[in-house]
Amino acid sequence: MSANDILIVGAGTAGLTAAIYVQRAGRHAVLFEKGAPGGQIVTANEIQNYPGYSSINGADFAYKLYEQATSLGAEFINGEVLKITPEKGAVTIQTARGTYTGRALIYAAGASHRRLGLANEERLIGRGISFCANCDGAFFKGKTVAVNGGGNTALDDALYLSRVAKEVYLIHRRKEYRAEQPLQKAVAETANIHPILDTTITALHETSGHLSAITLHNLVTQQDTELAVDGLFLAVGMKPETALLSGIVDLNESGYILAGEDTRTSVNNIFAAGDVRSKTVRQLTTAAADGTAAAIAAVAL
Ligand code: NAP
Repeated sequence: MSANDILIVGAGTAGLTAAIYVQRAGRHAVLFEKGAPGGQIVTANEIQNYPGYSSINGADFAYKLYEQATSLGAEFINGEVLKITPEKGAVTIQTARGTYTGRALIYAAGASHRRLGLANEERLIGRGISFCANCDGAFFKGKTVAVNGGGNTALDDALYLSRVAKEVYLIHRRKEYRAEQPLQKAVAETANIHPILDTTITALHETSGHLSAITLHNLVTQQDTELAVDGLFLAVGMKPETALLSGIVDLNESGYILAGEDTRTSVNNIFAAGDVRSKTVRQLTTAAADGTAAAIAAVAL
């Protein structure tokens, strides 16, 4: 490591793209990641909207990015970042393993799964509640599951689960999905996916420590019903992982880092890339674009 390095927090699409650009600009990128490389996209069943790939599995896509970045010489440090301290012309990162100082920081820590905020929810994660159809779907072979959400993740999950589970209930709080049209069409054409619209989940029930049923509240009729399920896949969006930068860079009211397309934050050597940045479109392509902009700006410092 050297004080000239570019530190990157988060090895998702934004962070790995930034690492590729930093290395190709002749500088050294050091990536910090607490989980597996690839970020959110690792759990996507199928990606059909990244230019150059008509269809690719999320984990394969993530691995290709990781391989590309590390083969160019980017350093990968597996561990949680505990503290970030900006100094004049430098940024220091503290992890359980040690302290690292670089010239600039590209913060690309992404977002974590939003919860419903119900009693028992945390305890039932891994006991019937999952955030990853691709990872946990096989546990529900021939069973009845519910998916909550109306975005790309929810519909993608419902389609994946329809091939494994017996019945899939797709619960969404509005009448319209926000997912892309091809996914909506595929869901409508799948016989064992049963949409339940205008409905929220208001209670989780368990039997012997495992999720066994959910209470559904219809927002139009105001009626409550109970639905027996073996599993519940939560796909209700993400919240930004920006606690480490709270009080350091400016955040918006939802906790996203205020930065424009140039990824510049209120601190001159800290750049925000990917889903952590305040913006309207959060896609793989825009994460890659942010990683690019952040790297070009950081190496120019
Ligand atoms: P999202 O697009 O933000 O969708 C979240 C869904 O959860 C929305 O339908 C939202 O309802 C619902 N929701 C939010 N809070 C809720 C609550 N408290 N209770 C009940 N429902 C709630 O999130 P996402 O689907 O995870 O997608 C995130 C990003 O990744 C998107 O940009 C997406 O396009 C991208 N992505 C792409 C792919 C792919 O291309 N294959 C796959 C997965 C994700 P409302 O609609 O009413 O707001």
